Amino acid sequence: RISEVDGPVESGVHAFLHVDAEGALARAAELDAARARGDELHALAGVPVAVKDVMVTRGMPSTAGSRMLEGWVPPYDATVVEKMRAAGLVTLGKTNMDEFAMGSSTEHSAFGPTRNPWAADRIPGGSGGGSAAALAAFEAPLATGTDTGGSIRQPAAVTGTVGVKPTYGGVSRYGLIALASSLDQGGPCARTVLDTALLHEVMGGHDPRDSTSLTDPVPAVVAAAREGARGDLTGVRVGVVAELGGTGHAEGFQPGVLQRFAEALDQLRDAGAEVVEVSCPNLEHALGAYYLILPSEASSNLARYDGMRYGLRVVPDGADVTAEQVMAATRARGFGAEAKRRIILGTYALSSGYYDAYYGSAQKIRTLVQRDFAAAFAEVDVLVSPTAPTTAFRLGEKLDDPLAMYRGDVATIPANLAGIPGMSLPVGLAPEDGLPVGLQLLAPVREDARLYRVGGALE
Ligand code: GLN
Repeated sequence: RISEVDGPVESGVHAFLHVDAEGALARAAELDAARARGDELHALAGVPVAVKDVMVTRGMPSTAGSRMLEGWVPPYDATVVEKMRAAGLVTLGKTNMDEFAMGSSTEHSAFGPTRNPWAADRIPGGSGGGSAAALAAFEAPLATGTDTGGSIRQPAAVTGTVGVKPTYGGVSRYGLIALASSLDQGGPCARTVLDTALLHEVMGGHDPRDSTSLTDPVPAVVAAAREGARGDLTGVRVGVVAELGGTGHAEGFQPGVLQRFAEALDQLRDAGAEVVEVSCPNLEHALGAYYLILPSEASSNLARYDGMRYGLRVVPDGADVTAEQVMAATRARGFGAEAKRRIILGTYALSSGYYDAYYGSAQKIRTLVQRDFAAAFAEVDVLVSPTAPTTAFRLGEKLDDPLAMYRGDVATIPANLAGIPGMSLPVGLAPEDGLPVGLQLLAPVREDARLYRVGGALE
C-alpha cells in the first residue's frame, strides 16, 4: 500500500503528492471486465503508473510542485496521459517534484521534500525525485518524468532506477506544464531497461497539438532492448566523453562513481563493444549556457501565473486594490525562492542591452555543443559518462548554495541543449557510501533505440 510506504511528509518517502486509489481500482475493474469480454488489450494494460505532477490530468490535481497551482484541477489530459490511458495503464496518482521542475533534489517542492528510499537522509534527485523514489520504493512499477536539464536521468541515477530522455520532440509536450519549451521533454522511468522501453513506445509519437513534435514513427525501442539483452555488442563503438568524467577530466567526480563507471566500460568491452575516448571541448560551457537559456525561457513561461486566469490569487487588503497589486501579491506568495531566483535571472538575461551578451552568447554555445556531439557521433555510435558526479547527497546539503546544486547537472545538461536522447541506468553501488551509481548513455537525434540496445546489454 502506498499509504504505508509513502509515510508522513516529515519522515516517509513522500513520493506522491496525490494518490487516486479509488480511481485506480475503478479503472482496474474496467480493464478486468474488458479482458473477460475477450477484448484485445495492450501488453501494459492494468499496469499502474505514477505520473509526475507536471503532467496535467483531467479531474486530478496538478500542481507542478507549486503553491501557485495548489487546488487547480485541470479540465484536460496531457497527450502522454491520454496515450497511457488508451493503452490501459492505470494512473496511481501524481508524484512530487521541485517547483515547476527547477532543481536537482526535490527539496524545492512547495509541499515538502521526497526522501531517497536507499537512505532517508538523502535526496532522491530532481526535479523528478517523486517518480524515481516511487520506483525505488516499489510503490509503482512505472513512472513518468520530464527532462529539461536532467530531471529524468539524474533522479534515476541516484535511486538505482532507469530513466530516458527521448529525442526532443519524440514525446508530446502538450499538457506538460512548461518550464523551458525548447528543452522540455517528457519520458519514461522504470526499474528495468525493457520496462522503460515498453512505456517509451506508449508515450511517444507525433502529436499535432505540439508544434515541435517529430513526425517520425516512435523508435523501435522494445525490440532494441530485447536485442541488447542478448549481451552481444560486437561492432558497436562507444565513446567515453573526456569532459564528463573521462580520463584526466574527473574533477568533482566521486571516486566510487568513477570506479563503477570504469567497471561498466569493462562490461561493454566484454560484450564486444569498442570503447574509445572522445573529446567534446565545448561541453565545458554547456552548464553556463543552460543556466541562462533555462531561466530566460522560464521567466517567459511563468509570466502566465498572474493571479488572473487560473491558479492562486492573492488580493491584498484595502480599498482600490489594483490589478498590478494582485499580481505582485500572488507571485510573491505563490512562487518559492528558486522560481523567483530564476525569474530574476531570466528577465535580466533577456533585458534590452544585455540580451546579446547573455542570451545571445548562450545560444551560440548551444550551437557549439550540438556541433561537438555531431563530430563525436561521426566516430562512435553512443557516448557514455557517469550520469551525475556524485551519489545522492544529504537533504539540506546544497539548499543554500544554488551553484553547487547546478554543478551536479554538468553531465546531463548537454543532451538537452543538443536535443539528443539520453538514458541513465544503474551500474552498482559506490563502495564508500553504498548508494546507487548511474551510467549515462547518449545517442544521436532520433537514434533512441541505440540507448536501449546498449543499456539492455549492460543490465
Ligand atoms: N536540475 C535542472 C534544473 O534545475 C533540472 C531541470 C529539469 O530537467 N526539469 O534546471
